[in-house]
Amino acid sequence: MIMQKGQRAGHTRQAQENGSQQPASVMQKTQATQSPGDEPSRLWQPASPLPPVVVDIHNHIYPEKIAAKAVESVGRFYGIEMSADGSARNLLSIQQQAHISYSLVCSVALKPDQVQTINDFIAAECQRHPSFIGFATMHHDFPNKAAEIQRVCDLGLTGFKLHPDSQGVNVDDPRLLEFYALIEDKLPLMLHCGDYRFDNSHPHRTQRVLRQFPLLKVNCAHFGGWSLYDLAVEFLEHERCFLDISSASVYLGPRRTTELIHHYGAERILFGSDFPMWHPGTELERFYQNVLTPAEREQILWHSAEAYLDRDLKPLF
Ligand SMILES: [Zn+2]
Repeated sequence: MIMQKGQRAGHTRQAQENGSQQPASVMQKTQATQSPGDEPSRLWQPASPLPPVVVDIHNHIYPEKIAAKAVESVGRFYGIEMSADGSARNLLSIQQQAHISYSLVCSVALKPDQVQTINDFIAAECQRHPSFIGFATMHHDFPNKAAEIQRVCDLGLTGFKLHPDSQGVNVDDPRLLEFYALIEDKLPLMLHCGDYRFDNSHPHRTQRVLRQFPLLKVNCAHFGGWSLYDLAVEFLEHERCFLDISSASVYLGPRRTTELIHHYGAERILFGSDFPMWHPGTELERFYQNVLTPAEREQILWHSAEAYLDRDLKPLF
């Protein structure tokens, strides 16, 4: 199901107004160019405290000069109104408001010649902002994948993101299998999973990849199958993978989200917002509507991300 424009406005707009006082430096930078999601006003406080570290594992950022166009085209692809402007500045401002410690940021190359430019951009943003964790992009037709993997590691990027549906390739295409073999025991992979309109990232294909590459650490995004959440359970229930809840619980509601989290087990679940499609503050607020124990929440917001990224994530301040 795809929500029509404006359908989610009540909840989202309300939570977009989440906000805390930002540090003076951030306010000064953003005052001149306020955009959706920036407005500081009401401070949302969860009923029980947030863990010391909150990780949003799924965000997309774009260079300022192309952000509006890129965000519009993603919104068109999914038929929804986007919640934020997709710039790093916008995401940083929301992080502050929403008490998110780390945001994993990535972008998707639709053509091979975009790969290096995007990877350079993501790496530069991560060098500038310690609260960002960067994943690189790859394209199935990129000529020298091994060299680019080495180059992005040198730049400090720590994983890869693929979006088979928008890249127009099957997740189990031989060109991608060759890529998985190169990163299998080195770097985690975030896979966009599922779309009822396409077969590219259908859970049956994802399952084949997971079985062929047992050492590949994969976040099967959107509960393993955007718009196919229940079908994904059949294929991924017993596979070895993480699953983020981005662009899923907004459609599933707290009851089904809670059930699916318990079904897979909190140690496999990652919190993600899919910024700029959704506002990370809204999604964090939505996450607190799920019926979970404090230990389960801490697992999903913090420790699952540490396990997936294979690193300790400490409070930054
Ligand atoms: Zn994504």
